[in-house]
This record gives sequence, structure tokens and C-alpha cells, in this order.
Amino acid sequence: MPLREIDEVNKNGFTEHRFGESDKMSTYLFSFVAGKFKSEEMAIANFPMKMLYRETDEEKIRYSIDSIFQLHHSSKLFLEFYNDFPFPFQKLNFATIPGFQYGGMEHVGAIQYKESSLFLDGSATENRKLGRAKLIAHETSHMWFGDLVTMDWFNDVWMKEVFANFMADKIVNPTFPSINHELAFMVGHYPSAYGEDRTKGTNPIRQELKNLNNAGSLYGSIIYNKAPIMMRQLEAVLGKENFQMGIQEYIKTYQNSNANWNDLVKILDDRTDIDLLTWSNVWVNSSGRPIFKDSVTYTEGGKISSFELRQMAEDASDYIWPRFSRSP
Ligand SMILES: [Zn+2]
Repeated sequence: MPLREIDEVNKNGFTEHRFGESDKMSTYLFSFVAGKFKSEEMAIANFPMKMLYRETDEEKIRYSIDSIFQLHHSSKLFLEFYNDFPFPFQKLNFATIPGFQYGGMEHVGAIQYKESSLFLDGSATENRKLGRAKLIAHETSHMWFGDLVTMDWFNDVWMKEVFANFMADKIVNPTFPSINHELAFMVGHYPSAYGEDRTKGTNPIRQELKNLNNAGSLYGSIIYNKAPIMMRQLEAVLGKENFQMGIQEYIKTYQNSNANWNDLVKILDDRTDIDLLTWSNVWVNSSGRPIFKDSVTYTEGGKISSFELRQMAEDASDYIWPRFSRSP
């Protein structure tokens, strides 16, 4: 948290820095960043942010610093508005780390980033800029989804990841109008989700996790590709406004606490006539996918007289996946 005393205390050739009391956070969100960093500070709309970095390429530094701060700020503004909840922590700082093994990690107080993902130069393509904007929006979204409201247990780790990507799409896509985001979503998610879901060894989105040691096995196409499709369906089922209000209630109810998937479903279920518990059971708690068959009959004049679309579960279970059209 912010330095509590500007006066550093010198002791036997060492300098002691004292920080304020931390906000409440889960243990997996604690981190400690140490090393020889350069720093840059910027306050946008009276909200101070600070970045620690190691980048040495002057062109990249000149080209990137403003954008990095602006992207954090615009993400924060959107999320405060969408969630109807102010930025939940005392500090939104970030540290870029060379050779970091992930794109980013949502530590409270200082988000950590892979340095090469944030520092771009003038030759960067639209896609790389899009990737950077989404990464920043993703990690900033975690401040609400994951950090402020944390899963009960790691079997729901997919929730925070899907929410972070879902919000990042909302934040970033409109700012890159030349890219066909719907097509990119389809190509990026459907083939690999189907590819895994059709196999006998597939698992549901929400699966049991008895031992944290096995958490790594949860990450795969089902979480990263099927779950985002499910989340879009969920928003379509409820309607955008209802969905947003449900999310606001979820954040307010479970702030600084834990919640699982069923807690969210209960809140959303009150906002629709559709039986969301059954819906969730098929989409989230069960594996597999539906197979669709159609039959069309024609009149003698060649016009369509009837059109029938039927679905059955590929695994021969009784499950039905309710379908809803998405408004354009
Ligand atoms: Zn994430």
C-alpha cells in the first residue's frame, strides 16, 4: 500500500520503508517485487498511478508510457461505471518484469506484467496493440473479479478468468473498430471448445478439485474457450441490462469476501423467468455438447412449409442446451 512515511528511516546503512496497512486480500494475491527498477508516475483525473519497469529501449519507453497509463485509467473508469463500485483498493500500481512467465498477474497494489507485452515501439501492429490493451483491461478487471470478490475454492478459478476476458472485450473492442471482433471471437473460441468437448475425456466447465496441487489440470480449452461462449450465452439469456445489474448486486453482496458460481447464479436467477439453475447445470456443471438436426419440408410450389430444428446430447444424456439469439 502507499508509503506511510515520506521520511525513510536509515538504519546501519539500510533504508527502511514503511507502508500503510494493506487492504483485505486473499493470500494468492500477495506479492513482493524487488530489484533495480526505474519508475514513472502519472495522475489522471486526480488518481495517481506508478509504474516500475526495467525496459532500456528509449524508443519503446517514449512510445509506450503514456498509453500504458491511459489504458489502465480507461479500464478503471469503465469498470467503476459497469460495476457501480469504485476502484476497491488504495493503489493501482504496476511492475513490468522481463521474462515474466505469464502475460500478467493481478496482485493487489502492484499488478505484474511481462515487460515485452506492455512496451511496444512504432512498428507494433494493430493486433499487438489490441493484445496489450486487452491484457491491461484483463488485469484491471481482476481488481473487482478475483481480488475484491474471490472464489471460494480453485474449482471456480475459471470464473475470474472468464469475467476478466469478458470485461476486457467490452472495454477494448470498441476502441479498435477496424477489427472484426465477432469473427475473431468465433475463430478463437469455437473450434477448440468443440474439439475438446466432443471427446470422451472432456470435463465440465466447473469440475471438482480435491487438491490444490492439481489446479494446473483445470486450465485448458474448456475453461478458456467454452466458458467464454457460455458467459455470452448467459448475458443473452438475461439481456445486457439485467446481466449488468446482477453483476452489480453480486459485487456489492460479496465484496471483500468469497463467492462461488452458484452464488452468482442465484442472484441472476431472480432476474429472469428462465430456470437458470437447470440452464447452469447443463452448460456449466456438465460436459458435452448438443448435436442439431434439421428437417425442412416444401410445398409443391417449392416454398418452405415447415422447418424443424432438433437437438440431442452427443453423449446420449437427456440434457437440453437452451438456445437464445444474441441481439446484434
Ligand atoms: Zn487473469
